[in-house]
Amino acid sequence: MRLTSPVKVLSLAGNTLQPEQTGSEAPVEALSIALPASRIQVRSVSKVEGTVPLPEAEVVVSGGRGLKGPEHWGILEELAKALGATTACSRPVADAGWRPHHEHVGQTGIAIRPNLYIAAGISGAIQHLAGVNSSKTIVVINKDPEAPFFKAADYGVVGDLFEVLPRLTAAVKKFKENRG
Ligand SMILES: Cc1cc2nc3c(=O)[nH]c(=O)nc-3n(C[C@H](O)[C@H](O)[C@H](O)COP(=O)(O)OP(=O)(O)OC[C@H]3O[C@@H](n4cnc5c(N)ncnc54)[C@H](O)[C@@H]3O)c2cc1C
Repeated sequence: MRLTSPVKVLSLAGNTLQPEQTGSEAPVEALSIALPASRIQVRSVSKVEGTVPLPEAEVVVSGGRGLKGPEHWGILEELAKALGATTACSRPVADAGWRPHHEHVGQTGIAIRPNLYIAAGISGAIQHLAGVNSSKTIVVINKDPEAPFFKAADYGVVGDLFEVLPRLTAAVKKFKENRG
């Protein structure tokens, strides 16, 4: 890519590119920009507190319509907590107001590339995959063995998420306890 404009601004979100060793040294220059206060305007501030923001998350646990309603999100959040993960969701889930829009991943939402993406009750529509298929390892939990998401998965569990998620959470907790 070539930036030809006289002023070049390049910003990269965390975890979007993998570091690559080139053998050469790149100088790092601190930049200070003097802008009169009158030129700075804060239009809006939206803060996500408590967890790592989705684009930077190493581990993401995501839910779709298979969770049936917002009242069931606790089992997904339990797993996310046990793994130190950030939660995400499919678009219809955010559209229905089950989850906030900043959690929606995919073509029209946030594109992510965590080390581990666990998708529960998500069919794996192409628009969803567009935002998550750069994840290093994809685990899919779906009761339908024909769900398209299994084709993109590294590991798949064919089963009812309402049974699988609590068992996975218990196994993660036990593993962590045994490790000390
Ligand atoms: C222009 C456009 C842009 C879009 N952008 C996006 C986008 O950015 N992100 C996005 O996600 N979608 C996007 N969509 C929507 C997309 O096409 C799909 O409709 C959506 O991803 C489906 O969401 P879902 O998988 O949660 O729901 P569904 O397709 O309804 O799938 C639910 C899944 O849950 C499984 N399930 C049900 N019960 C259980 C259970 N008890 N245990 C285990 N599994 C169960 C079902 O077998 C099913 O596979 C877009 C669509 C369009 C047209």
